[in-house]
Amino acid sequence: MSYPYLKTKFKKNLDEKTIEIINSYWKIENGIFINSPTKLRNELNITQPKLNSIVKKNSETKLYIDDCIQCKKNPIIIPVTSQSNAKKEIENTLFRCGTCDNSLKYVLNEYEYSKRKSLELIYAFKCKYWTKLTEEELNVLKKIIEYDDYRLFWKDFIQKDKNYYYPIIHKLNRFSLIDVQRNPINERASTVNFLAGLKKELGIKRKNKNIHTESSLNFYLPKRAQTKNTDPNFSKRIVFDQNIVIKAGTEYICSVWYNLDGSINFKMKSMDDLMGMTDESDDFEPKLIGEFIKNIKKKMKS
Ligand SMILES: [Zn+2]
Repeated sequence: MSYPYLKTKFKKNLDEKTIEIINSYWKIENGIFINSPTKLRNELNITQPKLNSIVKKNSETKLYIDDCIQCKKNPIIIPVTSQSNAKKEIENTLFRCGTCDNSLKYVLNEYEYSKRKSLELIYAFKCKYWTKLTEEELNVLKKIIEYDDYRLFWKDFIQKDKNYYYPIIHKLNRFSLIDVQRNPINERASTVNFLAGLKKELGIKRKNKNIHTESSLNFYLPKRAQTKNTDPNFSKRIVFDQNIVIKAGTEYICSVWYNLDGSINFKMKSMDDLMGMTDESDDFEPKLIGEFIKNIKKKMKS
């Protein structure tokens, strides 16, 4: 039998008619229920609560979703009580059978987690889980892959409409189409990984990462011992992974911070960006800089 399928256990001594109703209620082909509750209750001329009670009182049904990706032998089984309940379970993809899932609950170290997650990514890819997404969700996935830079994606899309993007990203992660890596300290998403094959499979052309306008510039410079008067006090070699465009006629604020170890942090940001910042938009900024921006805003207002 191909997944997903259902197995129903009937109560003893049921009449044929009841069995027939329950069987037609649970009839599924290619993941789709053949007889909707509305269709059935119209045919039988009964109410929805009546139909529900016929099904629930006289039978127990289990949904078989797929083979477990961990042990590769047990099916993933979930008890279901209604079509809508079953539909949700098919949507909410599980990857493991009950036994394997329980055995994993106590394994939380990073290595085990990434091993587990990569197994899921491969499985989701193999089973083309993107076909389970709505068009909107698929578009977000495509954009994430096209950008291949979560920080930039956050800036261009997420921060403008968090309520829209966060649930979708959460779902993509749950489906293991992406792997959201979080900063262990503040739990914020820092990077998003995905299988390289997705790019080709979804027909995404690589975004040219070299043409990119960045309006802020940050770096750290360690202190150097001077042997000659002409030697710099601070220096470091820096290789940027993209062009950084500094626009003519735009006002920038350049700032330097001393660190405890004698090094400095350099930051350059356009005035427009500083003015447009909200208190929440510092997801990627160190705390000190967030404070600095607030102070600037205060000064601008007064
Ligand atoms: Zn298993």
